Amino acid sequence: LEPRPCRVSAVLQEVSLLFSAVARQQGIELVVEGPASGDEEGIWADPDALRDVLINLVQNAVEATPGPGTVRLWQTADAEGVTLCVQDQGSGIGPEEARRIFEPFYTTKQRGTGLGLAICERVVAEHGGRIWFESAPGQGTTFYVWLPRPRQAP
Ligand code: ADP
Ligand code: MG
Repeated sequence: LEPRPCRVSAVLQEVSLLFSAVARQQGIELVVEGPASGDEEGIWADPDALRDVLINLVQNAVEATPGPGTVRLWQTADAEGVTLCVQDQGSGIGPEEARRIFEPFYTTKQRGTGLGLAICERVVAEHGGRIWFESAPGQGTTFYVWLPRPRQAP
């Protein structure tokens, strides 16, 4: 990992572009909201690793959406960092599942690896960040990734 100051909006746009064609074929619209890159404060992250985290989350969001729907990406800022948010209108995560989804090899998919969220959790922890989710079965899920801002130069 090579964490450095990086902008979240560029990574959100990149991942959204990667998925938009496949998503559209399934009737899923990807929407990126949030500040224009100009008025954005950076975070402290390896941009390639951060992109992989978002790819995993967006892939899961698309796979959880059975029919037409929207997957929304946005960011919110606080004093110490930035939270990246990925919201779907899919199947949701029940309480039994919720306990296990970050375990390596836990999957409910026929061809799932069960590694996506385990890798996300590790990468986020290595950045000094946090990952969590809120979900309503049958209504959808939102995953949140909080990452700290660049440290001030001494
Ligand atoms: P995989 O996608 O290979 O199954 P993951 O680690 O990415 O592995 O996810 C583990 C499990 O968590 C999934 O199989 C699924 O049951 C659940 N899950 C993850 N994201 C979502 C989501 N957005 N909506 C519903 N279930 C989810
Ligand atoms: Mg996955």
